[in-house]
Amino acid sequence: MTAFPDMSPEVAFETAPARATIHLDHIVANWRALTRLSKARVGAVVKTDAYGLGMEHVAPALSRAGAKDFFVATVPEGAALRNQLPEADIFVLTGLWDGQERAALENRLIPVAGSLDQLGLILRLKREHPDFRYGLMIETGMNRLGIAAGDAVKLAGDRRFRTVLAPCHLMSHLVASDEPGHWLNRKQRESFEEVGAAFAGVESSLAGSAGIFLGEEFHYEVLRPGLALYGGMSSPRQPQGFMPAVTVEARVLQVKTVRAGETVSYGATHRFHREGRVAVVAAGYGDGWLRSMSGSGVKTRADGSPGAHGVVKGFAVPVVGRITMDLTVFDISAVPEGFVLPGDYIELFGESASLENAARAAGTISYEMLTAIGRRYVKRVRAAHFA
Ligand SMILES: *Cc1c(COP(=O)(O)O)cnc(C)c1O
Repeated sequence: MTAFPDMSPEVAFETAPARATIHLDHIVANWRALTRLSKARVGAVVKTDAYGLGMEHVAPALSRAGAKDFFVATVPEGAALRNQLPEADIFVLTGLWDGQERAALENRLIPVAGSLDQLGLILRLKREHPDFRYGLMIETGMNRLGIAAGDAVKLAGDRRFRTVLAPCHLMSHLVASDEPGHWLNRKQRESFEEVGAAFAGVESSLAGSAGIFLGEEFHYEVLRPGLALYGGMSSPRQPQGFMPAVTVEARVLQVKTVRAGETVSYGATHRFHREGRVAVVAAGYGDGWLRSMSGSGVKTRADGSPGAHGVVKGFAVPVVGRITMDLTVFDISAVPEGFVLPGDYIELFGESASLENAARAAGTISYEMLTAIGRRYVKRVRAAHFA
């Protein structure tokens, strides 16, 4: 988003209220780290605008790095991606419904059938267009989208289905892959294997980021990582070394002294017991800097846990009081006076303040923090370099 039509991108970034630097180089490095971990083809989940980071930048970079399999949530996302990637395999995870047939055909999307009804629609298309490709989502425990394992095995028993109408890909989705010891991991893999045996020769995928770290027996032909590419911690088993994909910062508008006894922000929920200094920055929940991360005065603080903190010039600074729509107040009393000035930027999360800590303070997960990065940030993209 540019503030004024005649403003250069550099000036827009240097003067932004809130800004995000997208580290394509780190995203590509994270993708490559996964290719070293597995013999499977490493795909890329770029749904929801590549977790808020900008699919139009992320997908071409990963394609140049060598990714061939891309996963989006919806047909409109797939059509947008096709404009960028003329060759890639683009899987649509919510499948296909009435009215989307033309968009799917014209953009050579691969819808993943998540119910027998969707499969019926897809098979009608495939009869008319034998080259049309689709996948099957197998229900193994998520109870979200998916065709029952038993139904899939039955379908595979039909000769015409297996020969001319067959899917090009089988997938299922793990319920608790971020809990390596969870009983469902093994159970889901076993029912997935039963279906796979009935569809000999069809490629398959089971693991998102956390599933990858469960071990090779979860890998199959293709991996479907999202969060790990974007620098999130998907699982306690995720190795160190995955790098943050985004640094989010907000501009300091004012620095001021708050006297003993005074309060900060709506509801007067934070009182200074002695004199202190605060920095007022130009980001709030309207920017995806969630209100639940407030320092006080919200339900997520009822247990006494701390709110979010930012980092400025090496100092961690806590949010005080309630985060508002466009503004947040940080306590900078512990930072030497004169160190933080109007026009400086406080990092909200990224390279110095961890995404995971921000998510924890919000009572949510890093996935939601990332996808909340939205409309208002001025984005700068740090390119990846290809040898
Ligand atoms: C979102 C999604 C993924 C990616 O999950 P991460 O945990 O972000 O790696 C993989 N598969 C399916 C079906 C998904 O919906």
